[in-house]
Amino acid sequence: MTGLPAIDTPFLVDFLTRLLNTPSPTGLAEPAVALTEAELKPFKGLEFTRTRKGALVASWSGASPTAGARALTAHADTLGAMVKEIKPSGRLALSRVGGYAWNTVEGEGVTVFGAKGGKVRGSILLTKASGHVYGAEVNETKREDSSMEVRLDARTASAQETRALGIEVGDFVAFDPRVEVTQGFVRSRHLDDKACVACLVAAVKALSDVGLKPARTTHLLISNYEEVGHGAAAGIPATVEELVTVDMAAVGVGQTSDEFHATLCVKDSGGPYHHGLSDRLRRLAEKYAIPYMVDIYPYYGSDGEAFWRAGGDVAVALIGPGVDASHSYERTHTEALVATTQWVLAYLLEE
Ligand SMILES: [Zn+2]
Repeated sequence: MTGLPAIDTPFLVDFLTRLLNTPSPTGLAEPAVALTEAELKPFKGLEFTRTRKGALVASWSGASPTAGARALTAHADTLGAMVKEIKPSGRLALSRVGGYAWNTVEGEGVTVFGAKGGKVRGSILLTKASGHVYGAEVNETKREDSSMEVRLDARTASAQETRALGIEVGDFVAFDPRVEVTQGFVRSRHLDDKACVACLVAAVKALSDVGLKPARTTHLLISNYEEVGHGAAAGIPATVEELVTVDMAAVGVGQTSDEFHATLCVKDSGGPYHHGLSDRLRRLAEKYAIPYMVDIYPYYGSDGEAFWRAGGDVAVALIGPGVDASHSYERTHTEALVATTQWVLAYLLEE
């Protein structure tokens, strides 16, 4: 209907679900990067390289290979934690990886990835969790590093017993995503930014399915350190003239973004994005009747800005699906995922 190649929505949702179920906290994001690479491998015409930092660059030569190259980026790493301390009780104190509030993961199931390769399950709890023991303190205690801990699902009551499980300071901790697809909604942790990785892969599939290639040579950077601020600081090839960052839109009171549209972010904590490129994306959305919003995110940074701050001399813009309760238990709708994928397709095909 839009005049764009058809998107295989069941494929998009299936790959997204598999990606969400692949733990990849920043610093240990390789499994999600590798899954994305494996998913892209069957499509003809893409060449794959890895940066030394571990990001994936999938390069697709364009119909007019002499024209300036373009790039799109989305990140496969997510929020998570690392073991900060093994307590005398055998429980774990954590150090957060990425920016989130403790209350957003309170009660969540976790997997601890032991240094020697073992995995131990557990959950994140307030140190004074039981209402029957601590009464009003359960409600009144401030959630901070010192008041949150991991209770391991293993028989341990000492640091020594926990070490015997193969757990050491510095081990990575991943939160259960709790993916559920219902009524067109996708509810899960880490839709930021796996939703957008899935949109990029679905766009590649949509073009490939009809034997098309992008108008310009295009590099897809699947970055692996976005949540700590420097993901796409490296990895964008020097020939690239413009970068479209694909990352979730922030939904909430006062925001235009919602779970049924893709959003063009024109400004966030890092200031305005590139006006010319943003304008072109707006016109593409109108040309193809893609449901979109324009918004400003008050507390937000992107990999596009990471590249700008690292000295990247390119036009940068930001689009993505609306995600409710970002950096908490997130949710979006398939309509926003399809709209974002359509927008990526329109950009890939733009002369
Ligand atoms: Zn993100």
